[in-house]
Amino acid sequence: MDFSWSNEEEDFRNTVIKFLKENWDPSKSDLLEGADDNSFEDMREFRHKLAEQGWLIMSWPKEYGGKNASYMQQMIFKEESASYGAPTAGGAEDILAPALMVHGTEEQKNNHLPPIAKAEVLWAQGYSEPGAGSDLASLATRAKKEGDFFIINGQKIWSSNAHRSDWMHVLVRTDPDAPKHRGISYIMLDLKTPGINVRAIEQMHARGGFNEVFFEDVKIPVANLIGEENRGWYIAMTALDFERSGVHLVIGVKRKIDEILKYINEEKTNQKFSLVKKITNSIIELEIARLLSYRITSMQSKGLVPNYESSLAKTFGTELIQKHARRVINLLGLYGGLAKNSKHAPMNGIFCHEYVAMVGQTIQGGTSEIQRNIMATRGLGLPRS
Ligand SMILES: Cc1cc2nc3c(=O)[nH]c(=O)nc-3n(C[C@H](O)[C@H](O)[C@H](O)COP(=O)(O)OP(=O)(O)OC[C@H]3O[C@@H](n4cnc5c(N)ncnc54)[C@H](O)[C@@H]3O)c2cc1C
Repeated sequence: MDFSWSNEEEDFRNTVIKFLKENWDPSKSDLLEGADDNSFEDMREFRHKLAEQGWLIMSWPKEYGGKNASYMQQMIFKEESASYGAPTAGGAEDILAPALMVHGTEEQKNNHLPPIAKAEVLWAQGYSEPGAGSDLASLATRAKKEGDFFIINGQKIWSSNAHRSDWMHVLVRTDPDAPKHRGISYIMLDLKTPGINVRAIEQMHARGGFNEVFFEDVKIPVANLIGEENRGWYIAMTALDFERSGVHLVIGVKRKIDEILKYINEEKTNQKFSLVKKITNSIIELEIARLLSYRITSMQSKGLVPNYESSLAKTFGTELIQKHARRVINLLGLYGGLAKNSKHAPMNGIFCHEYVAMVGQTIQGGTSEIQRNIMATRGLGLPRS
């Protein structure tokens, strides 16, 4: 592995750092998980600025207005954004758009790609259901074709930001008699369509990040189908294949390590040695997590498709996020459990917030157990059962 950056990459890094300093206030960063309406608006405004720079869609091919940016450039951008606490991309531009580019009609591309690129339209992702999470192909939301429309009935769950979104891309069952992966279609729907009811789910650290979305006789034009009917599973997997290195996850930990070190240095000078010792494992593990992420980018740059390597990086990185929050809470003693805005909470309770907010990290995008199954079977060659 070559750890040095080219001059061009260093220049790009400096441009990104300058932009972040001018356009993002890092004190807002800790509000992003389960963002309230104000911090969500800050994030939205920042995404508009990213769109103006063309950075929201830097990975897109030039023919769709992107920059065809190299994997290294994308990683540098995410690394710097995360280390400055700025929101990184991960919306429809990363998930839906690649599927549209490959499988969408010209009309769908013309209608949907430009507003995604300009961050004008917010999309929610409607995959999970109460009975279909890890085993997503068991999904049961039914779409029945009647003339030029699909009539949709069923329920989605854990739909992040659906209550703020304009559109949703959903996986629905169009052929209940086919083998489960082969009876699924991928459809875009306007969330204002009659019959759709979005209900917020309250979380322990925030209100209204997650939602349940109910569909009752919702009439969606057949023209909103992406690709072939009953091939939706494979199309959605194209979208998920667009996975990135995940470096932004672990660099977020670096910020959190810097913050606790600053606190110890400024406020706890007498116990410096014993306190720093309690988080040295986070410092070591951060470097391991960073290298696991770099490995993925390095593979992608060589045209290889990371497989169990992504599972390894995701599991190690997300578990580190949680471990670090736990280590700091323990280090702070009873004060560690004080919530945000409490008068006596060290560092305004950000670690207490982090401790509860980060639970979902080892669940979303494939749970740690599922990632371990992948590492066992594809990485170690162990049998499936
Ligand atoms: C922060 C966050 C954001 C999310 N955003 C969205 C979104 O926008 N849209 C969307 O559609 N979904 C979203 N999800 C849902 C997410 O995709 C699911 O939570 C995830 O796929 C797990 O499914 P589940 O919750 O139904 O758990 P289940 O699949 O029911 O799993 C329950 C437990 O069983 C374990 N388990 C299941 N199968 C196996 C197995 N084969 N081997 C070993 N252990 C197993 C799991 O690891 C887990 O511990 C989000 C989730 C989170 C946490």
